Amino acid sequence: MQPRDLSDHVAYEAGRGIEEVARELGRDPSEFIKLASNENPHGPSPAAADAIREAAGSVSSYPKSTHTDLTDAVADRWAVDPAQVWLANGGDGAIDYLSRAILEPGEDVLVPSPGFAYYGMSARFHHGGVREYVLDREADFAQTPETVLSAYDGERIVYLTSPHNPSGSTIELAAVERIADETDEDTLVVVDEAYGEFADVDSAVALLEGRDGFDARDDVAVLRTFSKAYGLAGVRLGYAIVPAEWADAYARVNTPFAASEIACRAGLAAIDDDEHVERTVATARSSRAYMREHLDARVWPSEGNFVLAAVGDATTVAEELQQRGVIVRDCSSFGLPGCIRITCGTEAETERAVEAVNAVLAGRSTEREEVTDA
Ligand SMILES: *Cc1c(COP(=O)(O)O)cnc(C)c1O
Repeated sequence: MQPRDLSDHVAYEAGRGIEEVARELGRDPSEFIKLASNENPHGPSPAAADAIREAAGSVSSYPKSTHTDLTDAVADRWAVDPAQVWLANGGDGAIDYLSRAILEPGEDVLVPSPGFAYYGMSARFHHGGVREYVLDREADFAQTPETVLSAYDGERIVYLTSPHNPSGSTIELAAVERIADETDEDTLVVVDEAYGEFADVDSAVALLEGRDGFDARDDVAVLRTFSKAYGLAGVRLGYAIVPAEWADAYARVNTPFAASEIACRAGLAAIDDDEHVERTVATARSSRAYMREHLDARVWPSEGNFVLAAVGDATTVAEELQQRGVIVRDCSSFGLPGCIRITCGTEAETERAVEAVNAVLAGRSTEREEVTDA
């Protein structure tokens, strides 16, 4: 037998890991820094690491009360009803729950290009189709109602990413409101705020809840994750906040015990560790400012914990950077050839990355000159 026709499906290309690269190049892992997956350079919250250790003895039980406790804690943080919090195995898991709850077979989703690959993958897993709106690099990947609405053709879900991965651009809440107003009643606008903590933009939770002068609405959902600012990418924990009107759909679509005991305990500890998040955000802000100022390449303004830089032949540049021990993300798989995305590291990591990128680019321009001279 064979699986169903998966020819439209593509595998997710994750950022490369230190072990993987070190093994391939036959080098010591300690020579490398990884700035390829927007992970937290300060690691997890120490309180979360303790909670994970303490949870070891109780993992023989299904996560029932901790799941409830974390749901309540997240609901508290956002001042929403616990039923509106859909915990999941990472933000990616929350995307799957939204696909399951919203998409009928054959319905489409509208996603940004360049953009986060999992929106389309999840839609296809759930027998849906994918259409794209283009964020123009010459317009600094500006996210306006027009960019989205001019491509919109009745799709069931419209994905907005703010801050946007991989460019770092954001979208104003008034623009989200206009998109939600001008799309069909049956269209859900999902605002992916995976990098929300790093940005100077208000959360779209205000739109669902009718706060800050917006009318409450039932066609916007918000996505959040513990993977980035909270430093818990390895435990896989994220959530959607959905309108109260249809929040009860969660019970019908979720995987039993959507987040593990370890993830829930870690999340409970991390959500109270404001100091760790504040430190993480401060590091990202100074790192992205430093990279914009010192990289000898076009660097787009970013509100995330990463910057996008135009470097020419990105695949070769990323390989040469690897030789110098710096792992970055070649953005070809995002539909953005010619660019690399560099995660904001610690001060030392950031300086090392800038030095390496500038050295690689300088080497390449000399090579080009030599070729021209010859
Ligand atoms: C990292 C990321 C997510 C969620 O990642 P998880 O690790 O599954 O929580 C969602 N959207 C974007 C744009 C991301 O970059």
